[in-house]
Amino acid sequence: MTRNYVPTKKLIGLDLNSELKAFDSAARSKRAEAIAVADYRSERGEVVAALVAAAATAANDEVSLGYAERMRACADRQNFYYGEDFLDSSTGELFSGFNNLFGCGLKLCQSCMARSAARNRRIALRVLEHTELLNKEHYCFITGGYIVEQEQHRFVTLTMPKISKSLKVSSKIQKRSWDLLRKLKFTKTYLPGIIKTAEFTVRIDRTYHNHLHLLAISYFIPESLIKEAWTSCVKTAFAEFGVDFEAAQANVNLKLVYDLQGAVKEVCKYITKSDSWEKIPAEHLLEITRIKRWDRMFEISGRFRQTLAKLKIQDAAAADALSSFLDKKSTFTDGVARELNYFNTDGITDGELSSDLGCSEEIPAKPDEILKKPKRESWRDIIERDGLEKYKEIFYRQVEYAQKIRKLRLILKFPTASFSDLDGRPWDLAEIEQFAQQLAARGVDVLPA
Ligand SMILES: [Zn+2]
Repeated sequence: MTRNYVPTKKLIGLDLNSELKAFDSAARSKRAEAIAVADYRSERGEVVAALVAAAATAANDEVSLGYAERMRACADRQNFYYGEDFLDSSTGELFSGFNNLFGCGLKLCQSCMARSAARNRRIALRVLEHTELLNKEHYCFITGGYIVEQEQHRFVTLTMPKISKSLKVSSKIQKRSWDLLRKLKFTKTYLPGIIKTAEFTVRIDRTYHNHLHLLAISYFIPESLIKEAWTSCVKTAFAEFGVDFEAAQANVNLKLVYDLQGAVKEVCKYITKSDSWEKIPAEHLLEITRIKRWDRMFEISGRFRQTLAKLKIQDAAAADALSSFLDKKSTFTDGVARELNYFNTDGITDGELSSDLGCSEEIPAKPDEILKKPKRESWRDIIERDGLEKYKEIFYRQVEYAQKIRKLRLILKFPTASFSDLDGRPWDLAEIEQFAQQLAARGVDVLPA
């Protein structure tokens, strides 16, 4: 029996050179796009750092000057890298991306907060994917003699009337209102699973528009009922903070979700628009830099929380699956090249760095020296005790160390990738190798990123 082999493409019509050229130019434009975003982040960071520094200088506030210094180091163009040919172990795909080497983790930092939003998106998608809606097969079902609608995903936006207070105060009022609402039986009944984020915008009259986004599992909620519940919670919170509630009600917007990915993007946005910080009065900006612990902006509750707990206790094989899931390109492209996400910038860290920076001055001789250390001082403590100048000396050594460690970890994790700075200069691999040997000689283990 003879077989007919049919080429999938007509070879005559195929111009290999033009395909290669197209591939090449696509890669170049992706690179240009990524670097444009990195440049933008760097510039925004520098602008906000300068605003903070100016306000802090005027107020003679060394800690806030330190805050600005940390932001500036993060926004420094030399602190960014661009990488190509990262291998996604779950799909075998190659991807490219950019990130900061050192992450300041501060709330006013455009880069760090964008990264934290990306992390939240991945968690949200993961949780959504593993939480089943009940009674999917029926539109309605009967329970206890009542007809109940099936569960659906709903997008709920909760807003508050205008307040002429600082961002810190308006955020506290919002937090209190939410705490009141989430404890209601109403909420637990109608919204059995919630992914929540807090966001704000600055109005043209320089007041803050705080709002909460919920992506929830929900039954049909009569709009008047949820508005009534939310309004009463907000009124109570306003009264507790001694603010007059002048509006007719606090607003609620309900939408059915048809596109989960889109909804996740909407929920897990950056805490505010990138230019908001520039519209804020200097004293409000300073107030923000003085907040040591932020309330959690991203919260998962109800059935979603149960899913999260289940996912966390799965065995190592599932943990591997999770990490490869987290690597999936499609889940968190911002429509631009992928952002790499290696820092933990959780809401309450106040910019303390994760494991990289266990040492405050020198690389420790042995890892157990890190363990022996009592509770690590915060950067605020150091500035308060020793002053800003002394802190800066320590800090810039830390940044240098963090950058080197980050490079090493990235190389270990992505042996197929090639790295450069934003100007296209490739990393000095010999220097990194030397650093790795120094660490090895001191018995410090470096794990891949
Ligand atoms: Zn940062």
